[in-house]
Formats: sequence, structure tokens, C-alpha cells
Amino acid sequence: MIFQKTIRNEISEVGVGLHSGEKVKLTLKPGAEGQGIIFKKTNQKKESQVKVNPTIVLDTRLCSTIGNKDFQIATVEHLMSALCASGIDNITIEVSGSEIPIMDGSAITFIHLIKSAGIVDQQAPKEFIRIKKTIEVRQEDKFAIFEPHQGFVIDFTIDFPHPVFKTEDSHVNIDFFQDSYVQDISRARTFGFMQEVEALRSNGLARGGSLDNAIVVDEYKVINKDGLRYKDEFVRHKILDAMGDLFMLGKPLLGKFTAFKSGHELNNKLIRKLAENPDTWEVATLDLENDDTAHLAKQYQDSKSEYDSPDYITKL
Ligand SMILES: [Zn+2]
Repeated sequence: MIFQKTIRNEISEVGVGLHSGEKVKLTLKPGAEGQGIIFKKTNQKKESQVKVNPTIVLDTRLCSTIGNKDFQIATVEHLMSALCASGIDNITIEVSGSEIPIMDGSAITFIHLIKSAGIVDQQAPKEFIRIKKTIEVRQEDKFAIFEPHQGFVIDFTIDFPHPVFKTEDSHVNIDFFQDSYVQDISRARTFGFMQEVEALRSNGLARGGSLDNAIVVDEYKVINKDGLRYKDEFVRHKILDAMGDLFMLGKPLLGKFTAFKSGHELNNKLIRKLAENPDTWEVATLDLENDDTAHLAKQYQDSKSEYDSPDYITKL
């Protein structure tokens, strides 16, 4: 049987919010079996918390903001992506401000934090959401689709009419039961266009944004001195984002996700549609005794690849 996981020890990190520019403290705490993923904002008069599910996503224009009418937390997607990739089912995430810190704009700091806290098996079986029927959402020429698949695959294509986005670097297909999230996805940074950054700044946003936590593109080129971390870093970041967006279901997926020009908004529409159509999916546990998928899933959940070793991560 594959079991639920949480972190072994509490761990904290301080960073800056991408949009607010405020300094925030992020604390990850072990979660009880079956509790799921809980976000808590600690600087409120009343303590405010919310459990992850598709309907807590309130705003998807720049990043995924979650919450309810009383409180919001922005930019949760990179942390959610790292939690999904680390196989975490139960955790409490406390944040002292209105945004998860951006760190270097990728998920590698969160991966490092989770691995440093340690990951432990719990007693209850891990629950996956297994896609049973194809389900899709479309908006103009964009789409996002779930299909049945024995594993977890993300197939993503971007299309920006801009000289930096080359056609051959605009599509990536990752099979998370075989490929390494740490090596292939975790270091891909968020990106923005120079003109948009200026417009955001004049609206009081992107205050914490800098070349240290985002790839910035002008009319012709990437302006970061060191260039890209992967030649197709843009689409790899879209996969990082999608993994976090889809994990707002609260459980990991068994299925294939295919996206064309999708983003936080369409990704969230798809998981809401999935949640509203219970005939398209089922909750599944994986028994190692009689299920081949389970062995691959276990390898993925246990992060056994050499790239997941603390030595490799520290070198990055
Ligand atoms: Zn992102």
C-alpha cells in the first residue's frame, strides 16, 4: 500500500512577496492523517485558515490567490507544486502576510525546505484522484484536458508571438512517474514582459519582483545576465505552475493533463469542472501487491531518483 505523507519537523523560511513586496515568514508544520493541506494566515486578529479544494481559488489573474471573504493568500502555486512533487498529503502552511514568498521564482527553495524538514509515511492509505473519462475546458484557442492514464503526465504547449519563444522550445511532456521533477521542472522560474512589469508597478503590483526572482523579457531578448536555466524554461515553468494549480484538488492525480496556452484561470476551471462531474473520476488507493502502476507511483512518491538526493539539491 502507498501511504499518506507529511513532514517530520516544523520548518520556517523568510522571503519577500512578489506583488506586495512585503517580508513574510512561511512556516510548514506536520499535518494529521486525513487533514489535507491547510493554509493559515497568522497576522490576522482572528486566526484564519482554509483547507485546499478547487473552490478556494479566488483570483487567477497574475498568480493563484486563495482564501475566503475574510482573508486571502496570494502566489500559492509554486509551493503547492513542490508539495505535490514531494508526495505530501497532510501539512499546515502558516504565513505571516498576504502572500507566499517568491524566493527565486521557482520551486527549488520549497523542495529544499520540505526535504530538510524530512518526509514521513503515515498510517492511512494515500488517496489519488483517478481520471475515468476525458474532460476538457476551452477558451478561444486555449484548452486544458484530463484523460485517463496509468501514471501522471503533463503535456504543455505555449505560444507567444515573440522572438524569445522559439517553436522548438514551446512544448514539453513530462511523465512524473519516470522523469525527475527536481531535475527537469523545479528550477524553472516565473517570467514576465518588461512592459507588463512597468504597468504592474504603476498599479502597485510586482513590488517585490526583480531579476533575482523572475525571468524578464524585453521586446527582443531575455534581459537576465545569466540567461535561462533550461533552454525551454518558460514552458517548464508553466508545467511547474500547472502541477500546483491541479494540486488544489487536494489529492494527487492519476491521469494525463494536456494544455495548450493554458494558465492559472483555465487550470482552475478544469479542476472545478472535474469536481462538479463525479462520474469522470474516482478516489483510488494503490496496492503494491497487485498493481504495476503502484510501483512506479511509489518510486515517484518516495523521490528515489539520484536528483532528489540532498547532495544534488544543495548543489543547485
Ligand atoms: Zn508560476
